[in-house]
Amino acid sequence: MSFELDALYVEIRDQARAVAVEMESLAVEADASGELHPGLRAALARSGLWDLVVPATAGGRFERVDPLAVCVVREALMGTSAALDSLYALQGIGAYPIVVGGTAEQRARWLPAVRKGRAIAALAITEPEAGSDLRRISTSLVARDGELILNGRKSFISNAGAADFYSTLVRDGDGLSAVLVPADANGVTVERLPELIAPHVLGDVVFDDVRVGPDARLGTPGQGLDLVLSTLAMFRVSVAGAAVGLAQAALDEAVRHTREREQFGRPLIKLGAVAEMLADSWTEIEMARLLAYRAADRARLDPRAAIHDSSMAKLAATEMAGRVVDRCVQAMGRFGLVRNAKVERLYRQARPMRIYEGASEVLRISLSRELAARAG
Ligand SMILES: Cc1cc2nc3c(=O)[nH]c(=O)nc-3n(C[C@H](O)[C@H](O)[C@H](O)COP(=O)(O)OP(=O)(O)OC[C@H]3O[C@@H](n4cnc5c(N)ncnc54)[C@H](O)[C@@H]3O)c2cc1C
Repeated sequence: MSFELDALYVEIRDQARAVAVEMESLAVEADASGELHPGLRAALARSGLWDLVVPATAGGRFERVDPLAVCVVREALMGTSAALDSLYALQGIGAYPIVVGGTAEQRARWLPAVRKGRAIAALAITEPEAGSDLRRISTSLVARDGELILNGRKSFISNAGAADFYSTLVRDGDGLSAVLVPADANGVTVERLPELIAPHVLGDVVFDDVRVGPDARLGTPGQGLDLVLSTLAMFRVSVAGAAVGLAQAALDEAVRHTREREQFGRPLIKLGAVAEMLADSWTEIEMARLLAYRAADRARLDPRAAIHDSSMAKLAATEMAGRVVDRCVQAMGRFGLVRNAKVERLYRQARPMRIYEGASEVLRISLSRELAARAG
C-alpha cells in the first residue's frame, strides 16, 4: 500500500504544472473574462493534456479515461487559473456522454477534435426550474417526420457560446434522454448571463424548434440520466482535485506573505493565531488530497461503484477550500483584499465549487442515505 502517487501520475502532474507556469502571465486576464481565452486553449492543445480526457480509441492516452490523471491535472491547473482548469475539465465532461453513449460516427467526428482542442465541448443539464432536482427538466424532445425537435432553455451552461456542441439532457415522453446538439444547428441561440463573483464562460442556451436527425441521440431513449450519472461519476472527483489545488495555492501565498511581513517585531507566521490558521489549513489540505486521490484511484476501476467516495471527496475538498482560502485572506490582512491579487481571486473562485457538480447539501443527503443503507 502506498500513499504516494505512482511515477506515472507524478509525471502527468509535472506536465500540468509546466502548463500552469507557462499560463501564469495570462491568468489574471483569463480569469476576469467571461470569454474563452484563446491563449489558454492553444496551450492546452499543445500540451497533450486533453489526451487524458478521451479513451485510446479516440487517440487518448489510456484505454479508458483515468479519473486520477484528471484529478492531478486539475490540481495543478486550478492553482494558477480557474479559467484554465475549467477549460481543461469541460472538454472531458462535455464529451463524456459521447464516450459512453455515442455512436461510432459521433465518436469519430467529435472526440479526436475535442482532444486536439479543435472542438469545444459543453454539457447542458441545468434549466431555470431544474437545478439539483433533475426531475424538473422540461426542455422537450419530440420525434416528428424522421427528425428530433427540441424546445427549451438550458441555464448556466459552461462554455455556452464557445462550444461546438452541447451534450443535452431533455425530456422525452415519460423519461429523460440525451441528445448531441451541434452549436450551429438552426434555432440554437446563446444568451449571456450577468457576471458571477468569479467570471466564467457561461450562458443560457435556448433551443427554439431545433431540428436534428435521429442519429443525434446519445444512448438509448429514456437512458439520458444514466449517461449524466456516468459523466458525474467519472469527473466529480476531479473537482476535489481542483479544490485541493486552489487551497494549496492560497496557502502558498499566505505563507509567503506572513513570513515576510512583520508586526509586533515578528513575522506574522510566528504570531499565535496566524500560525494556527496556517497549520490548520495545511493539515486540512493534506487530508483532502489523500481523500481525493483515494477516491480517484477507486474510480479508476469503476466510477459508478466509487460514486460515494467521489462525492465525499468533492464535499470535503470544496468545503475545505472555502475554509482555507478564507483563513488565508485573513492572515494576509488588507493585502488579501486587493482586487485580482492572487488570494483574492482564489477566494472568489472557491465559492462556486460548493454549488456546481453536486451542491454540498445534496451530496450530504446522498451520503447519509448510503450510510443508512450500509447500516442495514
Ligand atoms: C460556475 C458554474 C458553472 C456551471 N456549469 C454548468 C454546466 O456546464 N452545465 C450545467 O448543466 N449546469 C451548470 N451549472 C449549474 C449547476 O449545475 C447548478 O447550479 C447546480 O446543479 C445547483 O443547482 P441550483 O443552482 O439551481 O441550486 P438549487 O438546486 O436551487 O439549490 C439551492 C440550494 O438548495 C440546496 N438544496 C437543493 N436541494 C436540496 C435538498 N433536497 N435538500 C437540502 N438542500 C437542497 C442546494 O444544496 C443549494 O444550497 C453551473 C453552475 C455554476 C455556478
